[in-house]
Amino acid sequence: MIRSLRTLLLLVLAVLFLSSSADAADKLRLLIIDGQNNHNWRVMTPPMKAKLESTGRFVVEVATTPGGKGAKEDWDKFRPDFSKFDVVLSNYNGQSWPEPVNKGLEKFVSGGGGLVIIHAANNSFGGWKEYNKMIALGWRNNKYGDRLTVDDSGKPVITPAGKGPGAGHGRQHAFEIVVRDSEHPVMKGMPKKWMHARDELYHGQRGPAKLHLLATAWSDKKTGGTGAHEPMIWFVPYGKGRVFTTVMGHVTPTDSIRCVGFQTVMCRGSEWAATGKVSIPIPDDFPTDKVKLAP
Ligand code: ZN
Repeated sequence: MIRSLRTLLLLVLAVLFLSSSADAADKLRLLIIDGQNNHNWRVMTPPMKAKLESTGRFVVEVATTPGGKGAKEDWDKFRPDFSKFDVVLSNYNGQSWPEPVNKGLEKFVSGGGGLVIIHAANNSFGGWKEYNKMIALGWRNNKYGDRLTVDDSGKPVITPAGKGPGAGHGRQHAFEIVVRDSEHPVMKGMPKKWMHARDELYHGQRGPAKLHLLATAWSDKKTGGTGAHEPMIWFVPYGKGRVFTTVMGHVTPTDSIRCVGFQTVMCRGSEWAATGKVSIPIPDDFPTDKVKLAP
């Protein structure tokens, strides 16, 4: 009897061990990069990390760069090993990274890795050509590159470099997101239009502008905008990899990053950037014509 109990116990332990390691093996490895930003990245990274982990789909690590006055030896130590991850999420807007880090990220994404760009992460690295190809549109002046908007019928409109507004945003407010590709795995099942919590509505973003548009928002002149449908969510294939951008997510702890819509886009976008597929469901409290904030 005792022997069979012991055997049973060992069996239970073995099953628990195997299932927990299988569970970890199923999870996607996600690296958040932060450390410099004109936004309070210290306030922003923890809730984003917690939200990603709460899906059960990710194991999340954070790599924090040296600060603005970081000494050379600190930068020499900043060498994230991208090959350990399925997807990298940038919450970084600051000084240039060392060349080996740039080359490492290019190799990672072109080799099939995912990259996710949140809000001001698209402000960084104006001088890094490959990064600007990956993000397609960044916070730049109007001479930097083309601008993409859509007209009222949903047709893309390119405004060439030198014409029209450069990067900016009007007053913060809640605004409607219009899904432009309901068949894309990240957007599939979302309402065609939904309300995003108070945020900065980026306009006049500039770059190579070669991208697949997933959602826009109307930038109203009444709130200091451009009177155009501005890109809010898009992706760019880069080599074998996928780069997913949302310009939503200005850090207002009570609003934009607590928006259930933003959180859903971030989680599903990260999963898609990593795998090309989405299994994370759209939650029941996803916003429709009313803003929905996570608790
Ligand atoms: Zn902002």
